[in-house]
Amino acid sequence: MSISLGVPEILTESGAWLRGHFLLTSGLHSDQFLIMARAFERPAWGRQLGRLVAELFRQDGVQAVVGPAMGGVLLAYEVAAALGCRALYTEKTETGMALKRGFRLAAGERVLVVEDAVSTGGSVKKVLEHLRSQPALVVGVAAVADRSGGRAAFPVPFRSAWSLEVSQWTADACPLCAKGVPLSRPKEG
Ligand SMILES: [Zn+2]
Repeated sequence: MSISLGVPEILTESGAWLRGHFLLTSGLHSDQFLIMARAFERPAWGRQLGRLVAELFRQDGVQAVVGPAMGGVLLAYEVAAALGCRALYTEKTETGMALKRGFRLAAGERVLVVEDAVSTGGSVKKVLEHLRSQPALVVGVAAVADRSGGRAAFPVPFRSAWSLEVSQWTADACPLCAKGVPLSRPKEG
């Protein structure tokens, strides 16, 4: 693998970026699907994604990287490796997300929140909500892929290494159905 691979090349080579005709859990049809876990199947891919995301906040004095489990765990680790700082992760609670396992952030510590792919940004918002109870300073949110179509917004700067426009249609308005392209369910679970 070349070290110069960009995000779309890694997502294609790893099988994380599916193109076809997919039935989503929402019931809508789509022409693309991301299964980001596949992009970390080979450490060389995950390492390169970590480097690309780290560059987005290289100048921001990041001291700790926090990602939501599961998607943010390996990414936080690789981004922290690239920035030479700590990696932590949050886990689900009954009401949101929290740092567990004795993970603590210091007063004024500069924190970057990372997520593999942002669509609605729901997980990231839960992480940010939890971090408000911590004495640390969140400097931003970084993602490998922004598939929100520009709609994801956070109260801190948001940067992504790559953006993906995903079209979604109801079955009766789906152009792929109209063309008779076979429909499949992406195997993400
Ligand atoms: Zn369709």
